[in-house]
Amino acid sequence: MSEARDSTGIHRRQFLGAAAAGALPSVAAAAGQAAGAAGAWERVQFARRDLPLKARPFPMTAVRLTEGPFRDAQEVNRKYLHRLPADRLLHTFRVTAGLPSTAQPLGGWEKPDGELRGHFTGHYLSACAFSYSSYGDAELKKKADAMVAELARCQEALKDGYLSAYPLEFWDRLKAGKRVWAPFYTLHKIMAGLLDMYAHCGNQQALAVVENMAGWVDRWTEPLGEEHMQRVLNVEFGGMGDILYNLWAATGKARYAEVGHRFDHKRIFDPLALRRDELKGLHVNTQVPKMIGAARRHELTQEARYRDIAEFFWHEVTNARCYVTGGTSNAELWLTDPRRLAAELRMRSNTCECCKAYNLLKLTRHLYQWSADPRFFDYYERTLFNHRLGTIHPETGASMYYLALNPGSWKTFGAEFDSFWCCTGSGVEEYAKLNDSIYFHDDQGVYVNLFIASELNWAEKGVRIRQTTRFPEQEGTLLTIEAARPVQMVLRIRVPWWATRGGAVRLNGKALGVFAGPSSYLTISRVWKKGDRVEVQFPMSLHVEPMPDDASIAAVLYGPIVLAGEMGRTDPGKERMFGPMGPTIKTNEVPFPVLRADAAHPESWLQPAPGKPLTFRTVGQAADMTLSPLYKTLDQRYTVYFRVS
Ligand SMILES: [Zn+2]
Repeated sequence: MSEARDSTGIHRRQFLGAAAAGALPSVAAAAGQAAGAAGAWERVQFARRDLPLKARPFPMTAVRLTEGPFRDAQEVNRKYLHRLPADRLLHTFRVTAGLPSTAQPLGGWEKPDGELRGHFTGHYLSACAFSYSSYGDAELKKKADAMVAELARCQEALKDGYLSAYPLEFWDRLKAGKRVWAPFYTLHKIMAGLLDMYAHCGNQQALAVVENMAGWVDRWTEPLGEEHMQRVLNVEFGGMGDILYNLWAATGKARYAEVGHRFDHKRIFDPLALRRDELKGLHVNTQVPKMIGAARRHELTQEARYRDIAEFFWHEVTNARCYVTGGTSNAELWLTDPRRLAAELRMRSNTCECCKAYNLLKLTRHLYQWSADPRFFDYYERTLFNHRLGTIHPETGASMYYLALNPGSWKTFGAEFDSFWCCTGSGVEEYAKLNDSIYFHDDQGVYVNLFIASELNWAEKGVRIRQTTRFPEQEGTLLTIEAARPVQMVLRIRVPWWATRGGAVRLNGKALGVFAGPSSYLTISRVWKKGDRVEVQFPMSLHVEPMPDDASIAAVLYGPIVLAGEMGRTDPGKERMFGPMGPTIKTNEVPFPVLRADAAHPESWLQPAPGKPLTFRTVGQAADMTLSPLYKTLDQRYTVYFRVS
């Protein structure tokens, strides 16, 4: 596919072939179009040309979590979702629509004069929809259905399809380039929540409301024209492209894709399409949802530009801009050039915002499906176990905002009714859909990508797979097949990047004598019978991961698990643990603990702590310390990085 550029560097693209269903959208210079003139838009016509997927996801209804740390996280999140009162979540919507509300307003970013108010209600609808799909929570569905009906009333009162918890005056400010937080960001959360209620709960009213909203977005953006809109896009707008392409996919109405195209942020997309990392200084979570939109567009149209953008972004960020946990950013930004992570780490103490991990996992899930390349799940596993597991409070269900990695850090969590950060919102979604990426399939069989205790019911194939594991405390997993009648199927089990010492696989107790290399699939193709058992062992080992720009600053892992150095139970205090977005430590306040150690042989200076899984004690150091999984660390100070000499 060729690409036309004019001397100003502005892409002028025209997609043809809408009449010929299935034809590749071709790209040509839109001659005579004054891109940039007020009111002018690129002419874009969309025709569906779905990307064939190498690995397809199962619906969440087909997978259930069983006993283990992930179900614990799901459960504590579920309780939090039940505790949040619908009337309080609807309060500012009703007030804005001029409808009566006597509910006590929520606090934090949802407070009645907060400029992001209403965003969490959108996340909440998504979380309820996921909860219904992933563990059949009919009560949350009922609650969310009632909220959708109320939001429809608000929309009717607000007129013209507009639905928000803040007034139109915010949009005037956005249009005029005046200071406003992020109106489209909030709108995206509400639209996504409604579309999720349609997709997972079959709520037709939710679809009607979100279509009305999309119509409003069309009418608001139309008069601006491209140049003005590109300026509007400099204000964070969440996943507006993503939601509008999804709405196109759900309804078949190409107009929504045309409106989605207006959210093509060229200043961000163009360098990425040319494989250039110009990310330094950008706000991270403003960008990741744009890439999810690009990925979604590629899935629906097969346009190479959008694959290039999403893939280059993913590879660059996960290889050159992520810390050992799979998280990225410091103080929400990329502060340095790529691969300068040791330098970036010491610039601020607020590393790795949780939303970014959430959105990077979403993006990873898209890209994996295009190729079925298991390396995408090497990243997924790293981030899921080190950044998502363990960033929800085990008793309150509150999410973290920053996962701080500097020495002397401690974990901080949101307050029950007085935080409602972006990360609270992505958090309630995350922990309601932990079952969505364990298994994928193609026509031949199943991909087992994550080692999480769960059950898969592949109804079309007449097969159930039960995965029994205490991973990561158990260095392997057991898959048991249930099939009404014998079934030919390929079982592909992911061998992770860290399984460098090989492994073992047994079928019905008999060693198979074969294995697969790291970052590949162990494939077993046979006629499976009820009760067949596949046991896989992946021996874990200790390894040291240095920073790319300073090999003396390093983290320690055991298998996929990042180990945190315990820095003592100096109680951070409840008031400093619930409420703040991150620990209040000054950069460089606490020096890196020094390990006099041979980085190539960590087993020579780290010994297993007796009776404590995944826990180690240093030997022969000036001051010995205990290293235990970051995901289990709570109410004490820690470090993720050490100075290794
Ligand atoms: Zn966030």
